[in-house]
Amino acid sequence: MINGTVFNLQRYSLHDGPGIRTTVFLKGCPARCWWCHNPESQSPLPEIAFSQNLCIACGACRPVCPNLLSRESCSGCGACADACPTGARELVGRVMSVEEAMGSVLKDRFFYEDSGGGVTFSGGEPLSQPQFLKALLAACREEEIHTAVDTAGICAPESLLDIAPLTDLFLFDLKCAAPERHREGTGADHAAILENLERLGRAQARIWIRIPVVPGFNDSVKEMEALAALAARVHGVRQVWLLPYHGSWGAKPARFGLEAAQPAQEAMAPSQESLEHYARLFRDKGLDTRIGGA
Ligand code: SF4
Ligand code: SF4
Repeated sequence: MINGTVFNLQRYSLHDGPGIRTTVFLKGCPARCWWCHNPESQSPLPEIAFSQNLCIACGACRPVCPNLLSRESCSGCGACADACPTGARELVGRVMSVEEAMGSVLKDRFFYEDSGGGVTFSGGEPLSQPQFLKALLAACREEEIHTAVDTAGICAPESLLDIAPLTDLFLFDLKCAAPERHREGTGADHAAILENLERLGRAQARIWIRIPVVPGFNDSVKEMEALAALAARVHGVRQVWLLPYHGSWGAKPARFGLEAAQPAQEAMAPSQESLEHYARLFRDKGLDTRIGGA
């Protein structure tokens, strides 16, 4: 039996590929993008989220565990969350079998068939759990359910090529064309990501490129021109989606013991005028380009 760690199963998703979809969020990501809206995806393990504003200091969690104050010592067993009467302590991430995940996915089969939708595997970086992902994709293929994999391309090339024949569509995230800037903003190596994108193109994969437009990072004509040139070179790119950054994470990082790493631009979102201009740069390269969620 192959198990994996899932932190969310989102039904009726309209922004992760065509039609109505279920998005399965797998835990674990090697990148550390400062605008990450899913900090709960970063650790590969189940973990406790703590909301100070919900805590009534009742003490019910204290006798349960000596590790309440130490994330390093926490095993993610969830006993303290079970003991908490207010939801201040919440277990995020659950180990599931392929069969269990498919049980949830199959509930909405009618919606997929009716809307041209399917299932999207996202994260985190879903290729952080390559065996689990492959088994889920194979199970969907057996059920004739359309699949999409939302990846940042930060993975072993063999893992990517291994799942390519089972994946109907790749939603491939690109962030920045300048290598140094890319590393500063994401902690990840730009060259390896591009090589993986080109590998997918050569493997005849269907690809939608998704670019978060983030003020203070890549929200400029120069950067978008470079990304458009890059996208135009890759075989198999069917669409490009520009995803406007929505601003602050709020209290989310603190719930997971993480520091907010956003620069001062965090409160801003790109203007509609800029987005339209950027979209034209991509369309000028012959790329079918949209603004908004995909
Ligand atoms: S999840 Fe388990 S190990 Fe972690 S703090 Fe809660 S009770 Fe302790
Ligand atoms: S059980 Fe929940 S509400 Fe009570 S002290 Fe612990 S975290 Fe706070």
